[in-house]
Amino acid sequence: MRLVDSHGHLNADRFDADVDLVVGGARLAGVERILVPGWNAHSSERALALTGRHAWLDAAVGVHPHDAAKVTTGEWADIETWARDERVVAIGETGLDSDRMFSPWESQLDNLRRNLSLAMATGKPAILHCRSKAGERDAQDALLSELRAAGFDGPAGRVAFGDRPPAVVHSFSGPVDYAREAVSMGLAVSFSGLVFRRGEEASAEAVKLVPDERLLVETDAPFLSPPGAPRSRNEPAWVSITAGWVAARRGVPDEVLGAWLISAYDATFPRARPR
Ligand SMILES: [Zn+2]
Repeated sequence: MRLVDSHGHLNADRFDADVDLVVGGARLAGVERILVPGWNAHSSERALALTGRHAWLDAAVGVHPHDAAKVTTGEWADIETWARDERVVAIGETGLDSDRMFSPWESQLDNLRRNLSLAMATGKPAILHCRSKAGERDAQDALLSELRAAGFDGPAGRVAFGDRPPAVVHSFSGPVDYAREAVSMGLAVSFSGLVFRRGEEASAEAVKLVPDERLLVETDAPFLSPPGAPRSRNEPAWVSITAGWVAARRGVPDEVLGAWLISAYDATFPRARPR
């Protein structure tokens, strides 16, 4: 099966010792695209460095809501510079998290807004993390209203992003009508091992609503191991488990889904370099 991992943190410390083996293992497992997102300045720089080492990988730079309050002015200036590098195909990950609240809500909003403007300015889609406490959806609602306020679903968004989705809902989590709203705003939606967790049952319906050309899968490695993958460390190769689940929910053979995934990835991320 042809596979993509639209979100794998190979820039995390936990891959320091064997990242080349992990990348090679992913390739052998059929993974043809991997996007490595940053979550702060240091990890963004490391994402960029990895694309130098393995040219088939893509990078994203940006600041995660958990790190919103920790980024210095100088670090943000670096991220703005890296965002224009051709190896960078998206801005993020950014977003909102009212579950863990590692940064105050006001800092999360400020951080999200400047990441969204950077996405607009570069024409590279934003990668969005979004979590509320179990059974709640305040972060999801706030996120969609911020996207609207930033013009992502309007004429300004079309100028900036052209035919591409203006943003990717990464590691989908939330109710079915949130998925419906995200899809109607033109966003791409990426599913991870989270779909197998208790409380995320709505994903089984949400996955049927996403148009083929905007449907992505990911690991969020080293986190969110799907059942069957080692709990200790998730890797891009294990995206096959979530992809198999998606194919079953969509009622298509793995081969068909695999072809969709490659085209959705290429239609979403503006990679300038030849493959
Ligand atoms: Zn992530």
